[in-house]
Amino acid sequence: MDRTWNRGLCWRCEDDGVPVLWLGPVQSAEAGDAPFFCCAPCVRRLEALVSAYNRRGDVVDENPVTSMLARTYGA
Ligand SMILES: [Zn+2]
Repeated sequence: MDRTWNRGLCWRCEDDGVPVLWLGPVQSAEAGDAPFFCCAPCVRRLEALVSAYNRRGDVVDENPVTSMLARTYGA
């Protein structure tokens, strides 16, 4: 993964002109794909969510959306 920080818009908190990191593509059913950039505080929050998601390995679900929701919210 490219870990280069560039100045721009955070797509999570919408802070602009801040160092942002490309985290991957966003896929929209209606508008196509776009690059997903986040600022440092948002990257830290997402890293915590990813870490929590991966610690909860007891949820077995083949559907990535419902699996993510179950892991994130215990649904
Ligand atoms: Zn942000």
